[in-house]
Amino acid sequence: MMIVMKEGATEEQIQAVVDRVESVGCSAHLSRGELLTVIGAIGDRDRVAGLGLEGAPGVDHLVPILKPYKLASAQFRKGERTVIEVDGRRVGGDHFSLIAGPCTVEGREQTLEVARVVSGGGASMLRGGAYKPRTSPYAFQGLGVEGLRLLQEAKDETGLPIVTEVMDARDIEDVVEVADVIQVGARNMQNYPLLSEIGRAGLPVLLKRGLSATLDELLMAAEYVLKEGNPDVMLCERGIRTFETSYRFTLDLLAVPALKELTHLPVIVDPSHAAGRRDWVLPMSLAAAAAGAAGIIVEVHNEPDEAI
Ligand code: PEP
Ligand code: MN
Repeated sequence: MMIVMKEGATEEQIQAVVDRVESVGCSAHLSRGELLTVIGAIGDRDRVAGLGLEGAPGVDHLVPILKPYKLASAQFRKGERTVIEVDGRRVGGDHFSLIAGPCTVEGREQTLEVARVVSGGGASMLRGGAYKPRTSPYAFQGLGVEGLRLLQEAKDETGLPIVTEVMDARDIEDVVEVADVIQVGARNMQNYPLLSEIGRAGLPVLLKRGLSATLDELLMAAEYVLKEGNPDVMLCERGIRTFETSYRFTLDLLAVPALKELTHLPVIVDPSHAAGRRDWVLPMSLAAAAAGAAGIIVEVHNEPDEAI
């Protein structure tokens, strides 16, 4: 429920509403505009309704948040867009972010070389996986802690913030030492305990859309992170599974304008995982920009033919 305070409502009146919302076990999220203060009451709708806040001192009116995702909904921020700041780099709003780097941290030379190239090419962040979700349990699973150490070295040399994936809540402690953004991979988009743990880790989150997830499901996943008090979630369209087999996944670029209507969170696009082929990355990157994406995340390798 959105509780819209009257113009000129006093601090005491605002605090009294917050206290009453919290007294029934709901959380209150304050949003102060130039003239009006709006309090988002998140939790059991009936309990908030039972408070009878209409007519309380300083309250103008109540508006229900209609979507099942509350904190992620565009309505919650009254049309304002979230801009996430990562070590001075902005994601969202009018900024276009270029996140680039290897799929997998394979070794020292490879990681540092790619980091230098993407830094020189204008990337705003370096991506790279130390823990890899592999379809086959026999495939290389990533260097783990050693991979994180190499990412740290790349960050020290280039100054680029690090985006890296967490698949297991037990690794969060090690990852937060190095990472500036935690990636949740497509396969874990609906791993709800993991999303909650990552929500509490204190870093911005890059949440990838599941292979067969609807936009509503993606936004509900984002809600798990937001609910932990972490407002910094960027959504990532990386291709979904359809009947088409000519490329790896179908890059659903209509998700960009559609999500921008549904949510205030920034939406970026990953053309690499959808295309699965180098020469298709450029046209789909341009298409993502044209569709209004807040940026792209692209895989880069110094010796692509040898890439794991
Ligand atoms: C990746 O970013 O390397 C990755 C595995 O992506 P996704 O989860 O989108 O498949
Ligand atoms: Mn990859």
